[in-house]
Amino acid sequence: MSAEELGKKLGKLDIDGNNLPPSPAPSTPRNGKRYALATELVYTEHGDQYNASSMPIYQTATFKQTSGAGGSEYDYTRSGNPTRSHLEKHLAKIMSANRCLTVSSGMAAMDVISRLLRPGDEVIAGDDLYGGTNRLLKYLSTHGDIVVHHIDTTNPENVRGYVNDKTKLVLLETPTNPLIKIVDIPSIARLAHEINPNALVAVDNTMLSPLLQNPLDLGADITYESGTKYLSGHHDLMAGVIAVNNLQLGEKLYFTINASGCGLSPFDSWLLMRGVKTLGVRMEKQQANAMRIATFLEDTGFRVRYPGLRSHPQYDLHWSMARGAGAVLSFETGNVDVSEKIVEAARLWAISVSFGCVNSLISMPTRMSHASIDAKTRKERNLAEDLIRLCVGIEDCEDLIDDLRTALVKAGAVRISPDGMRAIDFAAGETLL
Ligand SMILES: *Cc1c(COP(=O)(O)O)cnc(C)c1O
Repeated sequence: MSAEELGKKLGKLDIDGNNLPPSPAPSTPRNGKRYALATELVYTEHGDQYNASSMPIYQTATFKQTSGAGGSEYDYTRSGNPTRSHLEKHLAKIMSANRCLTVSSGMAAMDVISRLLRPGDEVIAGDDLYGGTNRLLKYLSTHGDIVVHHIDTTNPENVRGYVNDKTKLVLLETPTNPLIKIVDIPSIARLAHEINPNALVAVDNTMLSPLLQNPLDLGADITYESGTKYLSGHHDLMAGVIAVNNLQLGEKLYFTINASGCGLSPFDSWLLMRGVKTLGVRMEKQQANAMRIATFLEDTGFRVRYPGLRSHPQYDLHWSMARGAGAVLSFETGNVDVSEKIVEAARLWAISVSFGCVNSLISMPTRMSHASIDAKTRKERNLAEDLIRLCVGIEDCEDLIDDLRTALVKAGAVRISPDGMRAIDFAAGETLL
């Protein structure tokens, strides 16, 4: 007798475990009063049997059933786990979504979204995307017969020419990293939906987190982000989160997660839940530090890219969508060797890829996170070779500025005079000696 026949005989029992019920139930935000985001971040409700203050880690693969036909809310952790469900319901509130799903990394989130595509579908994506996203899109175009258009999405009119009835996905990131360019989510979502109502607009919100921007409220169909960054805040886990308002779309995404097994593990779900509770205080401090550091660098004479600065060419657009400027900024010195020396001379600022962590990081994108983009493409995208990226943490701001000042002096990036410190204008042929 086949497993299927046996299953039929025993009622609905699924012997092979291939036909698990779609648990957990959709993570719907609690009805009733909505508090301010700072409150929602820490206020949680769950149905733990002992009313534990911190949702327990249900470190189990399987759940016993009440009858041969199943009957329990959970049966198998690939399909659903109470710790993960709790996190997803909590995040759905914070992300202003009807359903949230959590997976093993930000790239896993992107992978799950990409499974909505079929051969022949077209994708419109930015030209200053996260490197891992670029890599996955490239793979889909060479192996999945997906047509990917990388275009400058900072001007919505550029997008118009590419949307057609084959467009399935419009993929946006704002602010971009490391060039900190701003993308107009509402205008692009409007024009994409006008031309093709079936096109899905997805926004990678990693750079700001739901504390500062809710792409779903701005017209996007899908928002996703790396939970490895601000949501967790401590660089001690990897996670990805996806949120949608359309429940049918949520079911399709859930299908892939259940089918492929990339749902976030119970322990990482618990860790991420813990991280999210302090997102508000972390981000507030990180932003305040970032603003002071951006101002210090600009006042010293460097070209700084940060949407908190009035000098940012898309300042108004950014603030029309977001509630804050985030804590990632970049600046140019005009000299690649000098930039490299600054990065190496910093002590408090750790040389590391990634961002969103409580401690401050410094990096040269063209040498590290974006090194996989070839030199020619970097040039086409105006990715300055001397660009330094700062990801600001929660340390004492004076300590951070002191450390940066010392690094600038050691690297020969500035001239000290009785009037203070000035950036050397390498472009104009100025040198230190
Ligand atoms: C880090 C990052 C990702 C990928 O997330 P992982 O958790 O590292 O897989 C995607 N997009 C952006 C903007 C990121 O910074």
